[in-house]
Amino acid sequence: MWRGVASEGKHMSAWERETARSERRRPARETGGIENLGNSCYIAASLQLLRSMRGFVESVHEVSGDEDGKPLLAALGEFFRSDASELSASGVKREMGRVRDEYGEFDQHDAMEFMTQMLDTIEREMGDDAAHCPSRQNFAWRIEHALSCVSCGERSVMDESMYMLTLQLIIDENESVDALLDRYFIPEKLERKCSCGCLFAISTRQIVSEPKFLLLHLKRFNAVIARGVLRLQKLTASIRLPSKMSLMHAGSAAAEIVVPKSSGDDSDLEHANNASKSSPDTPGVKRHNTRSVAATRPFDLLAVISHHGNTVELGHFVAHIRERKSKAWKTYDDERVTSYVARDELIFNSLQEFERECYVVAYERDDNENLRQGNAQIF
Ligand SMILES: [Zn+2]
Repeated sequence: MWRGVASEGKHMSAWERETARSERRRPARETGGIENLGNSCYIAASLQLLRSMRGFVESVHEVSGDEDGKPLLAALGEFFRSDASELSASGVKREMGRVRDEYGEFDQHDAMEFMTQMLDTIEREMGDDAAHCPSRQNFAWRIEHALSCVSCGERSVMDESMYMLTLQLIIDENESVDALLDRYFIPEKLERKCSCGCLFAISTRQIVSEPKFLLLHLKRFNAVIARGVLRLQKLTASIRLPSKMSLMHAGSAAAEIVVPKSSGDDSDLEHANNASKSSPDTPGVKRHNTRSVAATRPFDLLAVISHHGNTVELGHFVAHIRERKSKAWKTYDDERVTSYVARDELIFNSLQEFERECYVVAYERDDNENLRQGNAQIF
């Protein structure tokens, strides 16, 4: 018996050696997933997105040691410091439950709203210390929104600040995210009564300062009224996400554009051009046929939150994150972390799966890139 076992042992050891070799070939189990606490995929996807942003994580660590009066920052700092193979979002959930009761419960919520609430809460916890506020330091967009009377040119300017820019999709229209950004910054004619008696104004937006991380919310849920009941309809448009993008043609150029002469069917816009030309604080109006505005840095696609399903209440959020060193993508679906295999990426130069379901998209400013001047062409 003993001998039998011994000889079997010998036989097994050869088999075991082979098994051990194939185990080594098999990829190790991926770590870094987040335990599902009950419909908490919106929290997990948001935290994976934030965890992928090194600049944000560092600025949280800088301020989260001083825990008095900063309970969310303390919970976030603890979350980011954890090296457990499976992470827990319970501290962040507990603190956000104090901000809004429903986050303490176990129903599904919107990842975009949750993330915005977190960034606002961090801002409140930082109070007057804007210089060290992780939300402001990393995500704040400042946009100047001007309204110019189409008749007398009188101009009023508002400052708009935000952490996440919402881009409206058009039902079933497939577009690129930079085309959506362009559309956001196109001047438009609005109804607005001026003291001169004119009823219309031209609205223009210009980026005053760009964030380190662009957070873009693709508005896939449209409010529609069906048989007298308001409901949210999900838009299924595929949105192409270029791996590099620039804001040059979007906001920073917007002050200089109004509308090319070739679209001469809108004489009000032409008129507004002429009116604003006479204003001393407005740069000369140029045609929008160049990207040679201010030097700017390109942004790299870093992370995407996808939404699967037809409604916010029943859907599921998943995060896709690009690894910093390997540039390979990983998918974070609550506890499960898997390598993402981009389909036909070489053929289409595009990440097909993300584009159908992408909901929140994050780009990171490439601060290592040399400043690009003139007619930089980065695509
Ligand atoms: Zn007027």
